Amino acid sequence: MPAGVRSAAAGMAGIEAAEVADGVYRLALPLGIHGVPTVSAYLLRGDDGDTLVDCGIAAGVDGGDPGPDGTAAVSAALAAVGSSLDRLERLVVTHAHIDHFGLAGEVVRRSGGELWMHRRTELDLEKYADPDEAVDRRMLMLADHGLYGPELTASSEGLRDWLPLMPSVGRPSRLLNGGERFATGGRTWEVVHTPGHSPGHVCLWDADERLLCSGDHLLQVVSPPVTFERGFERDPMGSYLSSLDRVRDLGPELVLPGHGTPFRDGARRAESIAAGKRKRLTQVRDLVESRPRTVFELTTDLFGAAPLTGAQRHFVIAEILAYLAYHEVRRVLRRTRRPDGVFLWSADETPEVVP
Ligand SMILES: [Zn+2]
Repeated sequence: MPAGVRSAAAGMAGIEAAEVADGVYRLALPLGIHGVPTVSAYLLRGDDGDTLVDCGIAAGVDGGDPGPDGTAAVSAALAAVGSSLDRLERLVVTHAHIDHFGLAGEVVRRSGGELWMHRRTELDLEKYADPDEAVDRRMLMLADHGLYGPELTASSEGLRDWLPLMPSVGRPSRLLNGGERFATGGRTWEVVHTPGHSPGHVCLWDADERLLCSGDHLLQVVSPPVTFERGFERDPMGSYLSSLDRVRDLGPELVLPGHGTPFRDGARRAESIAAGKRKRLTQVRDLVESRPRTVFELTTDLFGAAPLTGAQRHFVIAEILAYLAYHEVRRVLRRTRRPDGVFLWSADETPEVVP
């Protein structure tokens, strides 16, 4: 990176921007919601135009004014690495969670660039088009598993905290399936579909230098949440474990994650995340096999009785549901309705029907 750019980056309060591989820049964009400070977007420098991977939410520099379209922070970060919205020929969104996608509509409107997203992100887009319906659906799901009263309301409404940070809902101009390739700045990137954290999650892979833009599929500090969402995917945990295997087999040398700074040895990280998820799978199975339980009871068994915020409680329950769904699909655990309508989970002892 030219020295002038580096000093511009260093002097920019509230924005971190740094070259992390030849022609690849990490932009730490402010979030500050639900306890997550930043999202890491990446700028892939091209000869005629640049590619941006993820774009954050409406935000200003250092808590300042986000501007009329919310692009103040992302514009400042692009300027710090010698790019601009005008130079973007393409925005690739790793997945349509609002912290990665919120500004996509405005970024492509301002840049005139393309918006690339996996075709299975359409489920998220439907949710954003009709948030009341999405909140209702989540409420029904949580009620089915034993939540009620103010706790039920608080745990169902998380989406409403995020919506004001998304000035418009971006519409993809190219729907991805995985396997697509594009060349920019002397590199060839391949789209790798990695469902699990979200059904429409993709990573970008540069096989020559073994670089992986991992979105939220691989994170260094936390195990990425894998949550069951009614109407989305039957077995998100199963998908996630397969996607971890896939990325482990690629053997990324440098991982560029969607939160935090780049780290080495993606295969080792993929294995350690998978081991943690498998340990939880066993714990959930053992608890339910020892005696039937509701998800509400499992929450206390696994996470203690410490008070959780609504958003935390939803995440905890939705991840437990992903573990249960995994076992249900494999006919290890099953659910029945108690007389009060709440689902009760137990060992599946139904004999296999031999046709
Ligand atoms: Zn995410």
